[in-house]
Amino acid sequence: MGSKGDNVAVCNMKLERLLSMKGGKGQDSYANNSQAQAMHARSMLHLLEETLDNVHLNSSASPPPFTAVDLGCSSGANTVHIIDFIVKHISKRFDSAGIDPPEFTAFFSDLPSNDFNTLFQLLPPLVSNSCMEECLAADGNRSYFVAGVPGSFYRRLFPAKTIDFFHSAFSLHWLSQVPESVTDRRSAAYNRGRVFIHGAGESTTTAYKRQFQADLAEFLRARAAEVKRGGAMFLVCLGRTSVDPTDQGGAGLLFGTHFQDAWDDLVREGLVAAEKRDGFNIPVYAPSLQDFKEVVEANGSFAIEKLVVYKGGSPLVVSEPDDASEVGRAFASSCRSVAGVLVEAHIGEELSNELFSRVERRATSHAKDVLVNLQFFHIVASLSFT
Ligand code: SAH
Repeated sequence: MGSKGDNVAVCNMKLERLLSMKGGKGQDSYANNSQAQAMHARSMLHLLEETLDNVHLNSSASPPPFTAVDLGCSSGANTVHIIDFIVKHISKRFDSAGIDPPEFTAFFSDLPSNDFNTLFQLLPPLVSNSCMEECLAADGNRSYFVAGVPGSFYRRLFPAKTIDFFHSAFSLHWLSQVPESVTDRRSAAYNRGRVFIHGAGESTTTAYKRQFQADLAEFLRARAAEVKRGGAMFLVCLGRTSVDPTDQGGAGLLFGTHFQDAWDDLVREGLVAAEKRDGFNIPVYAPSLQDFKEVVEANGSFAIEKLVVYKGGSPLVVSEPDDASEVGRAFASSCRSVAGVLVEAHIGEELSNELFSRVERRATSHAKDVLVNLQFFHIVASLSFT
């Protein structure tokens, strides 16, 4: 079957030009499949607050704007709620300290293929400067200036020493690339028969771990240049509780079971060649606390205020847990909202439809197991820059 994706391998150079969550507001869009992330983020707000309480407040007579950034903002409402929360919390701190709050600027940053249009349409209207303070107390209005910043967070995105606060949720587990050895048939790390590292061989998982740590090191290096003295960062990404990287926890169940089996179905049915499947790899790595900590310590620019593994829960939001077909649909939509763009680039839209209908069928027949066992854990890092 010829498909327009045939020549577009998810190759390393292309990943950052290609990767995005599914845009728009349709059934499989990220905007429509991120309620679970919203719940997980809500359950961590007290940790975010603690980090915000560490940020230095500038009390000079005419301070520059307080600048907050959301890295990996995607195209749903979550980023808007978080920025709103950050601005309100910092503003309250200025009030309690008896200092006039400065103006606020928020940058929404993601890769260039992110659907920034959908995101910008979700922003509440900006109130005029004159009633900025009143507005901070009122819901439904925006009391900060905004801009979208396209680019990879594994490189510099902002001028030096200009940012007070960095936030990033559910994004840093995305690698900058699939390690080259993993798609090289001559390499011991070649991920034969698999589309993710869950249950893969040691060389493959080691290549992923190295990539994750090299990427995180670049991330920290870039942020250390951009953050102001006294600034802070709150980072949340998928993590795992096992020391063994072949056990990728919730990410492993999302990409290593029904999604994997559905690829195998396509190969068995002759719709996709085995090598084509083997050339596809989900560029995600769920680190352990240790994997993460090693990099922050080696970088040395940030003090670790808190570094914990936090239970997020299920990524699925279903209204009728006993309805197996609803669970199956939610699983497939959740999987497609985050990985669909990459799958379509690799095998085209038609085969992608075939794949995700098999994912749905398989998840439906294991609905109980999916509901109970698909649980996400997150690494939560509160870092300050002194
Ligand atoms: N923070 C949002 C969205 C998380 S989805 C929320 O809380 O709901 C993960 C996002 O990370 C995606 O939009 C993806 O495009 C982005 N991302 C992945 N790798 C990235 C990179 N190298 N640079 C910038 N953004 C990246």
